[in-house]
Amino acid sequence: MHTPVEIEAFLERTLLKVQKPARYTGGEINQVVKDWDHIATKIALVFPDLYDLGMSNLGLAILYELLNQRPDVLAERAYAPWSDMEAELRHASLPLYSLETKHPLAAFDIIGFTLPYETLYTNALNILDLAGIPLFSAQRNEGHPLVIAGGHAAYNPEPMYPFIDAFVIGEGEEVIDEIVDVQQAWKRCGASRQDLLLSLAQIWGVYVPSLYEAHYHPDGVLSHLEARFPEAQLPVLKRIVGKLPPAPTHFIVPYIDTVHNRAPVEITRGCTRGCRFCHAGIVSRPVRERSVAEIVEAIEQALANTGYEEVGLLSLSSSDYTDIVKLVEAVSQRFVGRHLSISLPSLRIESFSVDLMDALKDSRRSGFTLAPEAATERMREIINKPVSTGQLLDTARAIYSRGWHNLKLYFMIGHPSETIEDVQAISDLCKAVLAEGRKLIGRRAQVTAGVSTFIPKPHTPFQWVPCDTLEQITAKQELLKRSLRGPGLKLNWNSPEDTMLEAWLSRGDRRMAEVVYQAWLGGAKFDAWKDRFRFDLWQQAFTAVGLDPAFYTHRLRPLEELLPWDHISTGVRKKYLADDYLRSQQGVTRDDCRERCYACGILPSFAGLRRLNTGDVWQCPEVKSPQGMADRLHPLAINK
Ligand code: SF4
Repeated sequence: MHTPVEIEAFLERTLLKVQKPARYTGGEINQVVKDWDHIATKIALVFPDLYDLGMSNLGLAILYELLNQRPDVLAERAYAPWSDMEAELRHASLPLYSLETKHPLAAFDIIGFTLPYETLYTNALNILDLAGIPLFSAQRNEGHPLVIAGGHAAYNPEPMYPFIDAFVIGEGEEVIDEIVDVQQAWKRCGASRQDLLLSLAQIWGVYVPSLYEAHYHPDGVLSHLEARFPEAQLPVLKRIVGKLPPAPTHFIVPYIDTVHNRAPVEITRGCTRGCRFCHAGIVSRPVRERSVAEIVEAIEQALANTGYEEVGLLSLSSSDYTDIVKLVEAVSQRFVGRHLSISLPSLRIESFSVDLMDALKDSRRSGFTLAPEAATERMREIINKPVSTGQLLDTARAIYSRGWHNLKLYFMIGHPSETIEDVQAISDLCKAVLAEGRKLIGRRAQVTAGVSTFIPKPHTPFQWVPCDTLEQITAKQELLKRSLRGPGLKLNWNSPEDTMLEAWLSRGDRRMAEVVYQAWLGGAKFDAWKDRFRFDLWQQAFTAVGLDPAFYTHRLRPLEELLPWDHISTGVRKKYLADDYLRSQQGVTRDDCRERCYACGILPSFAGLRRLNTGDVWQCPEVKSPQGMADRLHPLAINK
């Protein structure tokens, strides 16, 4: 195995030849370096995209801080090298290494991939290849690292099933400790790799795909997933923490610009809104909030530890945080005069949101973002984002009159049952908003429309619906490009091919893994990057494997069909999702859960967790069941 000394020497020779050398050096403020030779478990946390993106990933930052608090564990980082650095590594026959101590990834006990989105899959394979670790789980032996993966994309793990030894389904804060404990016990007793996998499979929230076998009907639809060992759970219930642990505050401060140069503080996890297209809204249930005091203290510490001048208060719907007014008051009082920029993303469309942003006095007034997602009231009812056009225009007026010039509006095309009139309405609505702005602030008013394309996601009420075809998406985008133009108007859109790739992968089954592999063999990587993404490689991969891509995207799946991710339980019942889907077809909305509980199923699964979350925070209502499914399975984990 190559040594850190060899890798350091390589870096000396190479860094001046590659773009942004600081991506590859480590050594930043707050990185943690431990004594390699005296630590039992070494974990490489890998974000399979560029450093510039991965450094802003909150999930990885949380695990890095938590793991390094354990005296018997060291956690280091690795990111996907850009093509210039990859070429240098391959030319020198050197493996990918960790930033902290420059050890090859193959020298770690555990490789932990963060997979927040599907278009990172080929990069994950490329990283394993660069590390000299066999790509397929079945080819790894006792001397190879354990390869695990988690993140939102892991809620449908099947397209990556042969490459990953174990997936973490859900939140990683507690389960990662249990994985480390199991790995240490296995290492001490010298058992086989299969024994390690069987032990991991018994941890709540861990899915070991090699312990199951998928069977298909002749028409290609999944017939059943067979558990091949008694240790293999069916279903695999996601892991969550009962109470949000203390927020991380020792963020590593990069030497180069990254996507977000700020301290992120998660104010709440989960969402009660029930937008039918939203994957995060379903998989992160139930809502758990941090207290105002905890958040303010976390900001204070993060600023002291990092020197950042920007703080992001993160959640899926900030205005819904129970004490949002108190929080904004507390933050603006505590940090007044400290030249801080505080962002509060994901605000509801109402003038109250403008009051909140106004109260954060030091925030920059460059742009205000709202996400109506659809431009007609009919369409907003179908997707369960019921906001009236009048309310949107009122909010726009409040925004322009309070000092913001550019209103960014996010929409999606391709929602179920969308007509060409619904698409045209996006243009009309943007023009109506701009007209309101012009009345108030004249020609300074601007509207930027970001129009992405709806992708049906697993575990959502829209998981059964077809996605628009390339031709449909192109026609809708052309309409918008023709009509949404003029002074003060700007339109941004995603390429239809990018949409297709994400759509194939997000609802793929195990057979899709061969497509991912063939695409990577053909040269696919950095699929999330416009200038690197090669649609033709994916089309060739489908042909080589003999699969029809339309099977995954353009087929209306019957409600009774067994879906490739049905063995992964988010706690929300499939029947609830189906019922919500049928409501959407009738244009019937559901209220915010805070007004009324619809018994989505999350509480019977996690009833015991309520007891941990005491204090003045919002919670789902009590359920009659004294014990949830998770409590029965894992009483110690719940009650500790
Ligand atoms: S249990 Fe009720 S309140 Fe909680 S997320 Fe589900 S529907 Fe909403």
